[in-house]
Amino acid sequence: MASDSSPGWALVAHGGAGLISRDHLKPEQEAAYRQAMATVAEAGASVLRAGGSAMDAVEAAIHLLEDDPLFNAGRGAVFTAEGRVELDASIMDGRTLAAGAVAGLSTTRHPISAARAVIEGSAHVMLGGEGADAFARSQGLEQVDPSWFFSARRWRSLERALAKLDLPIPPRPAGIVAEADLRGDLVHDEGKRGTVGCVALDSRGHVAAGTSTGGTTAKRWGRVGDSPIIGAGTYASDRACAVSCTGAGEYFIRLGVAHEICALVQHAGLSLQAAVDRVVQGDLTALGGDGGVIAVAPDGQMAWSFNTEGMYRARIADGQPLVVGAYKDDP
Ligand code: ASP
Repeated sequence: MASDSSPGWALVAHGGAGLISRDHLKPEQEAAYRQAMATVAEAGASVLRAGGSAMDAVEAAIHLLEDDPLFNAGRGAVFTAEGRVELDASIMDGRTLAAGAVAGLSTTRHPISAARAVIEGSAHVMLGGEGADAFARSQGLEQVDPSWFFSARRWRSLERALAKLDLPIPPRPAGIVAEADLRGDLVHDEGKRGTVGCVALDSRGHVAAGTSTGGTTAKRWGRVGDSPIIGAGTYASDRACAVSCTGAGEYFIRLGVAHEICALVQHAGLSLQAAVDRVVQGDLTALGGDGGVIAVAPDGQMAWSFNTEGMYRARIADGQPLVVGAYKDDP
């Protein structure tokens, strides 16, 4: 439990926002997603409970989400129009404002760790494409064949998306893992997108945020969304809060959503919930974008906000119970 002078640790995670409603999910899918979010939040919480840093908790939680084919990040990510998987991730340390990001990875098993390695092993903030995978390899991060990320379920989503766009369907790549082996029957396509993220406050009062994604189904031309853009999909500052976003990346980039929320907290004195609602329900909705955010502040406030039907989410804090949500009307 927290002492009187400290708010204690706290953690919020998300698994994407979109067409997440009772009409779109079978009960067994709903149960699988809720269970996955609970497991992830507990994993992050156990790092914080043991005195670990917010950065370590964020990375540990996102590792699980990247390995879980239910989510569009790491294994089970969506395909590009060319039939590849291109993964984006970023992480930021609110204590130092150190930030790392990667875009377009295809062989690094845990993109969030590659993003963190950019902080610790380079003089840069963002690396892209083959160079980013080569850097991750040079840092000793686990490399996999690109087919590690391929799943039959996401391939079918690509075929449908390309047919709608009237684009050619590329040859089916070798190594796509069969439905049954990757829990494909449980995967819910929340609108051709999805992303995972986590924000944490550690017991020393520092916040961190991380985000990881496969981006959007059938993306072309090396498209990069908000998830690896510091200030758009991810931001963290001990002077304000830590934020991770999911949604239509092009809108989140234009609004600088994650930084905007932190700025409202730091400079306009808004509560965390008021800040996330103003940006998501106000600015993002007015611009025509959809999605959601999670946030945590150094004083222990936790918040989420989304303008989609639902968002997979979980929060837990020192002395407070785990809360898992999927639909709009969940607490
Ligand atoms: N924000 C991600 C992107 O635009 C997708 C998502 O979160 O659904 O790449």
